[in-house]
Amino acid sequence: MGTPLVDGFGRVHRDLRISITDRCNFRCTYCMPAEGMDWLPRSELLTYEEISRLAGVFVTHFDFDGIRITGGEPTVRAHLPVLLSKLSRLRTGAGRPVDLAMTTNGATLGLIAHDLVRAGLGRINVSCDSLRADRFEALTHRDGLAAVLDGIDAALEAGLAPVKVNVVVMRGVNDDEVVDFATFGRERGVEVRFIEFMPLDAQGGWTRAQVVDQAEIVSAIDRVHPLEPVATRGSEPAERFRYLDGGGHVGVIASVTHAFCGTCDRVRLTAEGQLATCLFAVDEHDLRTPLRAGASDPELAEIVRGALATKWAGHAIDQVQFIRPRRSMSQIGG
Ligand code: SAM
Repeated sequence: MGTPLVDGFGRVHRDLRISITDRCNFRCTYCMPAEGMDWLPRSELLTYEEISRLAGVFVTHFDFDGIRITGGEPTVRAHLPVLLSKLSRLRTGAGRPVDLAMTTNGATLGLIAHDLVRAGLGRINVSCDSLRADRFEALTHRDGLAAVLDGIDAALEAGLAPVKVNVVVMRGVNDDEVVDFATFGRERGVEVRFIEFMPLDAQGGWTRAQVVDQAEIVSAIDRVHPLEPVATRGSEPAERFRYLDGGGHVGVIASVTHAFCGTCDRVRLTAEGQLATCLFAVDEHDLRTPLRAGASDPELAEIVRGALATKWAGHAIDQVQFIRPRRSMSQIGG
């Protein structure tokens, strides 16, 4: 058995988010500029062997039981099933497999969903911020809505479960589509998760006025499809609600207005092997250098334990003392 990875506030960590690339084939306005991002050189990216080795440290030493692959856009990295098969073979100290998930823009799922499932992927979140083709294109700088909707269908058909759809809600951009997305989720049998817009865009253009808060999102849906809150939340980032008519669930990730740092069980590994104890952490902890210098698994585990001791109580987004991280969502791994 491993030993739990506990931070200074008594929070036990069990969930590892791994970014495998900082590149993306979309340019969502709230994440990246249309042009001019500097990509990491290939030599700085962890190889699939290195990612699996570090993931193994979390799973076997600290009993992590959840791994989510993200980016950038994880599907743009070649041979993704090779990595998924390696990760799906990991076992916790108690002998359990990990819950292997991925967050993607979904644009190529129509082609690869079955391969991902065969390699061991269990569930998926697909990001989609508008159901209107012209608005989708304005938001992503790509004519990609049809491919993403096909991708959602392909994920369901391949047996990924659950399939969730992430929607970042922004004032004056897509806040008039909240009910359309809720209806879409009910009809397709997918759980929609509305995300409050966070100050993690590469351009630094975020303003508080653009945030549509959880209360407004829930009441808009409730007026059309009545909802009740789901009592148990655990360490889930989303607060979930159930449709009273049995039409499924919907969630809101209210990172700005209802931060859930007190129950956070997540750490993040960036594409170049830096450990971030929070999406908003200002300091990162280098695992790649010791890994490439030949550190043993127990030595790497010790670095991780030391890093966790520095984790903050909370990110303070909606407070005056908030410090914006140096890097954006796509560079850290969302
Ligand atoms: N490319 C993949 C995707 O589109 O899902 C994975 C990476 S993306 C950075 C992960 C998630 O972060 C997406 O659901 C995206 O919408 C969300 N995201 C990116 N920037 C954000 C921001 N400034 N505020 C809130 N969510 C954001």
